[in-house]
Amino acid sequence: MRLELWLGDITAVAADAIVNAANSSLLGGGGVDGAIHRAAGPALLEECRTLGGCPTGEARITRGYRLPARHVIHTVGPRWQGGERGEPALLARCYQSVFALVEAHGLRTVAFPSISTGIYGYPLAQAARIALREIHAALARLPGVEKVTAVLFSPVDLDVYRQALADVSGGR
Ligand code: ADP
Repeated sequence: MRLELWLGDITAVAADAIVNAANSSLLGGGGVDGAIHRAAGPALLEECRTLGGCPTGEARITRGYRLPARHVIHTVGPRWQGGERGEPALLARCYQSVFALVEAHGLRTVAFPSISTGIYGYPLAQAARIALREIHAALARLPGVEKVTAVLFSPVDLDVYRQALADVSGGR
């Protein structure tokens, strides 16, 4: 299996890149963004300052500094506003933008958090289906990608992703 689900802290993952669920300033925030900046050290923020922000749905790559990961790919998920404001397409675009950078930089391993489902309030089960659908599509398209890890931060989140994986794999 080139896709694995893992319960834990993404800042501990030694992948070619870990993905950050950032905000559009790229200047740090709460949740996984704060954890990544704390673990990477201040040089990450310095590099982020040079990037001039990132629109929702797009992604930017930096070095990983003190993280075990070589790179951080920062993407900005949509804030949930009820689901009629283009949120599903924007969330899918985050995954597509990340994989475009994975391909451009020849990265083989990448770990994702559950983008938008914390502070941004995206319903977890719906986000999980989009995440897994986009990861499957990217794996089919990119043979150079050896492993994608979806990192879940709580057992409940892991269960929701497991169920979504069963649904997506079963074609339902
Ligand atoms: P967003 O603003 O995109 O919703 P958050 O960081 O608030 O981003 O939440 C995204 C997901 O990341 C949530 O499921 C949250 O529980 C999870 N998360 C928070 N810290 C970590 C961490 N250190 N490693 C992995 N996932 C984390």
